[in-house]
Formats: sequence, structure tokens, C-alpha cells
Amino acid sequence: MIGARFTCNICGTPGVFDPPDDWREGASCAGCGSSVRMRSIVHCLLSGLLGQSCVLEKMPRKRLIGAGLSDWEGYASRLAKAFDYTNTFYHQAPRFDICAPGPERLGLYDFLISSDVFEHTPAPASRAFDGAFESLRPGGLLVMTVPFGWQEETIEHYPDLGDFTVVELGGDYALVSRDTDGKFVLYENPVFHGGPGTTLEMREFSLDGLMAELEAAGFTEITLHADAVPEWGIFPRNRYGVPVTARKPAGALDRLKFKVRKARPS
Ligand SMILES: [Zn+2]
Repeated sequence: MIGARFTCNICGTPGVFDPPDDWREGASCAGCGSSVRMRSIVHCLLSGLLGQSCVLEKMPRKRLIGAGLSDWEGYASRLAKAFDYTNTFYHQAPRFDICAPGPERLGLYDFLISSDVFEHTPAPASRAFDGAFESLRPGGLLVMTVPFGWQEETIEHYPDLGDFTVVELGGDYALVSRDTDGKFVLYENPVFHGGPGTTLEMREFSLDGLMAELEAAGFTEITLHADAVPEWGIFPRNRYGVPVTARKPAGALDRLKFKVRKARPS
């Protein structure tokens, strides 16, 4: 596998894959700096939407509506040229809280991308999966990654977390929360992704737990993409954190429309 030739499916640059120490995150395209994670996501997205994979940079524009949740700029800028795509954020405009999408987003999207976000949403985890399901139109595609473990069930670090703040004392970090029962609670040794005090890890998914959440939200065609795709430089060393795709069934009722119909006088 060392020294395998590939074409980056994001920017189209040809390269030779020299496995970085961190196969999932290490930059391995000389053109755009994409990692295996980024190229896998784009491969799963284009295969799922177009029926075949291609180079994002060179594809003809398609009139499909999509959104990313804090997507990597390297593919977000190219997705915006290829589709009616918006990269969205939790803390800045354009804002999109996947746990509470709002009526304007119900049934809107042909596709949603969420890479390493769902481990950071507040408990219960199901709110984010429900939000993704509600935001997709029937037949819409979810492409997601989360870090996951092989334990039986997802480990929820803070099931009762309410409003909280991160405190630092002598180089150590802790969370102070007014938990959902109203009591102040101190949580020691929080895990942050992207450096101390940044994005808090709320849970450690298990693979089974992740699949169960997707199924419970109503998704079908739930698929784990762990195979290598050498031509696009996708060389997962194992199944850890590889993309999962899932679809909202074509016949699924949009909850808002359902409510409107029920509210109409007969
Ligand atoms: Zn590239």
C-alpha cells in the first residue's frame, strides 16, 4: 500500500500515498492537503448522490440542496460550486443547530454532511440524529463520521449536563454544571477535541450505538464504508471512524407537513 498512486477526488491533484502516522487525519494530498477522512466523505457523498464517484473539482453543477456542519473548508468551497450547498456552524452565521433545526429547515436538504460533530452535541445523542432526519427531504442522504470505539454501548459522559462552564485551575480543567436536576456539579478531567478548553467531548460512540441511533431516528440503507478506494487515495487501516451513510426513506412523512395537515379544519 505504501507509495500507491492516486488522484485526489477533492482537488484532482495526482499524488503518491505515503501513509502518515495518523492515517485518518494526516494531510496526504499535495494539492489541497486533504486527509483520508476528507476524501472518504466526498467519495461517499458523490457516490450516494450521483451513483458514481468523481473528482469534486471537475464535476458539472447539480441542483441539489445540501449543508455541512462545520465542514472542512478544503471541500466546503468546492461543494458550494458543485451544489446549492451551505457550510453552517453552531457558534456563528450561518447558524444551524442540528439538535433543533427549526421549521425553515424541515425536509429541506438533499444531503447533509456531519464530520466529527455528533460526539459534541448535548445529551441525549438522539436529538442530533432526529434533527438530521427531520432536515433531510425524503430520499435525502446523510454522510457522517464520528470517532467510535468497540465497546458494546455508547459511553455518555454527561447525561444530566445543563448549562455549564469550563474552569481552569493550575493547568487542570473541569466543568461546572447546573445539572438538569438544578444542582451544581463539578466534572473533572473533561476531554476536549482541538486543544484544552475547546470543543468538549460529550460521548464516546460505540459502533453498535451509532448504528442503533441512526435506525431509531428512522434512517435506512445505513452503511459503514471501511473499504479502501485506492484510486482516490482512501486507505483506511481499520474501521475506526470511517464514514457512515444513511438515507431518509423516500416515503417518509415530514413532521411539519403532517402537523399542518392535521391542523387544517375539515
Ligand atoms: Zn487534494
